[in-house]
Amino acid sequence: MTRFIFVTGGVVSSLGKGLASASLASLLQHHGYKVRIRKLDPYLNVDPGTMSPYQHGEVYVTDDGAETDLDLGHYERFTGVISKKSDNITSGRVYQKIITRERKGEYLGATVQVIPHVTNEIKEFISNDLEQEDFVICEIGGTIGDIESLPFIEAIRQFHNDNGHENSLFIHVTLVPYIASSGELKTKPTQHSVKELRSLGIQPNILLCRSDRIIPEGERKKIGLFCNVQHNCVIQAINANSIYEVPINFYNEGLDKRVLEYFNLDANKAIDLKMWSQVSKHVLEPEGKVIIGIVGKYTGLADAYKSLNEALSHGGIFNNVKVELKWFESEELNSSNTTSLLANCHGILVPGGFGERGSEGKIAAIKYARENKIPYFGICFGMQLAVIEMARNILGIQDANSSEFSNCNNSIVGLMTEWTTSDNTTEKRSKTDDLGGTMRLGSYEAKLRKGSKIFYIYKDEIINERHRHRYEVNNKFADEFESKGVIFSGYSPDGLLPETVELKDHPWFIGVQYHPELKSKPFEPHPLFKSFIDAAKKHKDE
Ligand code: GLN
Repeated sequence: MTRFIFVTGGVVSSLGKGLASASLASLLQHHGYKVRIRKLDPYLNVDPGTMSPYQHGEVYVTDDGAETDLDLGHYERFTGVISKKSDNITSGRVYQKIITRERKGEYLGATVQVIPHVTNEIKEFISNDLEQEDFVICEIGGTIGDIESLPFIEAIRQFHNDNGHENSLFIHVTLVPYIASSGELKTKPTQHSVKELRSLGIQPNILLCRSDRIIPEGERKKIGLFCNVQHNCVIQAINANSIYEVPINFYNEGLDKRVLEYFNLDANKAIDLKMWSQVSKHVLEPEGKVIIGIVGKYTGLADAYKSLNEALSHGGIFNNVKVELKWFESEELNSSNTTSLLANCHGILVPGGFGERGSEGKIAAIKYARENKIPYFGICFGMQLAVIEMARNILGIQDANSSEFSNCNNSIVGLMTEWTTSDNTTEKRSKTDDLGGTMRLGSYEAKLRKGSKIFYIYKDEIINERHRHRYEVNNKFADEFESKGVIFSGYSPDGLLPETVELKDHPWFIGVQYHPELKSKPFEPHPLFKSFIDAAKKHKDE
């Protein structure tokens, strides 16, 4: 039987509902249960694919090619359960489906309304495409009180009624702020938020109270009393030193127990959270440090490169070093300041990206890393720009560029007009296609050349990695490049699309057309990140 846990947020956004959901899921896994986590996003975009990273943080891509909320990345990293397209919906997707159906006349003359048509669609999503999971945790995006989340709240209220109260549980994540001038923790915002939730017909069963300090017994009792929640279900969620401590903290506060008791399941089984404490220890007590320079465009917002940050930290966990990230706004870099700005980096990385702005700064950083033999890791855009840099400076093609940019006469990187999917169908694209959902998306196989550096790193010839790009490196220069030591060491199985590039005469210079960061996990760091951080460590010790 599948039980449902709904996680809502109150007071302010960014309280870490995603991490809370992922941490609870991990605890339930430790109790031996099969879990799945889903995200319901109330915004009107069909998916976050067309949103600026400044608006929404990174776009997380699933194996099956969905562009989703970055919380799905937390879910995967914390639970190891591979997220699917069916684990994330938005209001936009719900309305798109309903309106398409309405235009086809499928509602048979009915007036199409938020209740029941939108709410039915949301309820259908919640329980759709499951594989006998014991628990499904559904995180509702946004904050209680937002107009756009109302249909979602109404849908979970109905779901709770339809499926029997004993089969679903509501967790509300709130904030208990400390007011310095009065020296007190304040419970009122939580009271108001729960009042709002109750006015929508939902009585939370558990409150997860975010706070920067211990919430005294008296305050917890007060919250329980005013919010109509049992005293032991008012759980404090104190700021953790590392995200890996969150499951341990929740366990110590009895969150898993309260959940299992609610569902009448054995709550007394002791579980061993050694894996979390070990990984926390590595993060908090590393034995050394490497500095990685990241040259990107959204460096002001850490969430814009969420999975990348995590994957680099996983590489650090594996190598027992702290990975300090130095962010560089690509527009501020040029060939005359790279030496002074990048000099103390032990590795340089250019992540995925879009558009011309800042691309010359990235190319300058790549040239610096290549010429000074500093480990370089180019991810997607970072690979394309590395090939452009080498076409200009090694092959002497001065005007080498990408057709993604306005003034491109010699496209070393060009629009991908045709490719073969994993089920052998052909995808075709043209310049005038929609931007949303039309990239080469999701997991694709690549074949690595035996004897190459990347083959040595993966220790495998066939790999599967997630893609999200519209352009590709032009294959026609492969032989010329090879004669100069620039090796296209990985290709799509049909041998047409370059997937990886590496330099022979360089300690570590690798570009990949895919996004390896999306598959890295703290307990299973990605081989490329392990190897890159190891190379940075060696560079530091030189
Ligand atoms: N802008 C490039 C493309 O669309 C790279 C995309 C990316 O880095 N994810 O091909």
